Amino acid sequence: MAKIYLVKPYGFCSGLKRALCLVKDCEKRYSQIYLLGELLHNPVVIKELRNKGIKIIKERDIDFFKNLNEKEKKETVIIVRTHGIPKEILKKLENFGINIINTTCGYIKKICIIVENLKKEGYWIVIIGNSRHPEVKTIKSFAEDKGLIYKKNLNFKNNLKVGVVSQTTLDETTYQTALTHLITDFPLKELRIFNTLCPEVIKRQREIKKLAKRVDLMVIVGGRNSANTKRLEEIAKREGCQTFWISTFKEMENLKKLSKKFDKIGIVSGTSTPESFVDLVIKNLKEGGNK
Ligand code: SF4
Repeated sequence: MAKIYLVKPYGFCSGLKRALCLVKDCEKRYSQIYLLGELLHNPVVIKELRNKGIKIIKERDIDFFKNLNEKEKKETVIIVRTHGIPKEILKKLENFGINIINTTCGYIKKICIIVENLKKEGYWIVIIGNSRHPEVKTIKSFAEDKGLIYKKNLNFKNNLKVGVVSQTTLDETTYQTALTHLITDFPLKELRIFNTLCPEVIKRQREIKKLAKRVDLMVIVGGRNSANTKRLEEIAKREGCQTFWISTFKEMENLKKLSKKFDKIGIVSGTSTPESFVDLVIKNLKEGGNK
């Protein structure tokens, strides 16, 4: 049977633990619960939430809440996910007079405050991250017309004051490469760098980097649309390690044969993966090895 090595920590990060507690609390207090976008990028958890009757809506649908009567408003709550939402959308919801539970993670709120202050002090703000990711959209909304998403061919005028922040789930290598580019290739008047990578994500990234050198296969556990899980796969591959990705219960069966094929198997999970799901992955790998 293969030897199994688990990257710790595993299970939900602190931001998601808090968000899920807030959702549980809403279940006791409101009959109509809406999530504005997926609370987290994990199909297993999203399915559980949907099964409880919680509805997931998109930002373009929020005008629906404007037309609720006072009784309906009291019974309804809208939950803002850990990635946050652009500030103008939050303002719009507040104006509807509806109950809002904002689960935006503290690490992301802190970035929004940094960005807001930089803007006030006359800086341009460069955000290193994926422009389509909800977290980056939230951060950019605080920079307003002073926000730029980092890309290789940024076109700065000379003598600008620039502040840099990043998406929390970026990997350290990508972050450092972008910073080096900004430092060396642009004639900026001032460059202020804020390390806004999430320490909980970075811990997993550093652990997988070490483990990837020692195992024959790395099992990546988490949603395929999860940015931090994707980074973990990229890091393992970069270290020359073969990977196998698992995101749903259906795929568990595939694990059983892996234990016979490989001698040393690493397991790493994204921050939106429940601990119980990772435990099941380990159980299935072990069972496969016993057959
Ligand atoms: S991964 Fe980090 S930044 Fe994202 S929700 Fe979790 S604790 Fe917050």
